[in-house]
Amino acid sequence: MASDKLPGAILDRISSQITKCRRCTLWEEAKQGVPGEGSISAKVMFIGEAPGEQEDSLGRPFVGRAGRVLDSLLAGTGLSREEVFIGNIVKHRPPGNRDPKPDEVIACAPWLEQQINTIRPPLLVPLGRHATRYVLGRMGVEFVKITDISGTVFEGEPFGFPQKIIPALHPAATLHNPLSREHLKEDFRKLGDLLREMEY
Ligand code: URA
Repeated sequence: MASDKLPGAILDRISSQITKCRRCTLWEEAKQGVPGEGSISAKVMFIGEAPGEQEDSLGRPFVGRAGRVLDSLLAGTGLSREEVFIGNIVKHRPPGNRDPKPDEVIACAPWLEQQINTIRPPLLVPLGRHATRYVLGRMGVEFVKITDISGTVFEGEPFGFPQKIIPALHPAATLHNPLSREHLKEDFRKLGDLLREMEY
């Protein structure tokens, strides 16, 4: 590592820089930045899209209704929030929870990249089409519908070191849709199989 700082200190420094970030205009309407949280030695990193209302209020990722879905699915895999890392591609809430714009993703993604390069998790779980498009796009993999590829294990070096990637549906997309919820449960069942295979 180029720096003599401990990885935990580097992660904290990235978080504090994110809270002051002005690389796009989302901060103007957001209450605060939501850097993400979890273990510096996480083997698994979950990547969402952007903070929603609750996350914006509390400064923590996935603490609203989608977060409760994620918590219950995590419990099913035997993972706790403390041992994984949970973050988003975009770190400030888009107004009214609209989709992040491409220029906002481009401006914000280097923060996620720094977090990934600091933690170096062997397994990434992008949640939903935006996060999945961002991660798989770095490997030259394109897709039309997230439902066609969720639960599939990809291997590559999207961030310059070997990783496995298993995309899943976004928990928020399943809140009012029982069929999608079953699909998401199946994605997490496959994640559980992969975790066992990787002996995590
Ligand atoms: N949806 C996301 O994509 N991220 C969050 O942190 C919360 C909801």
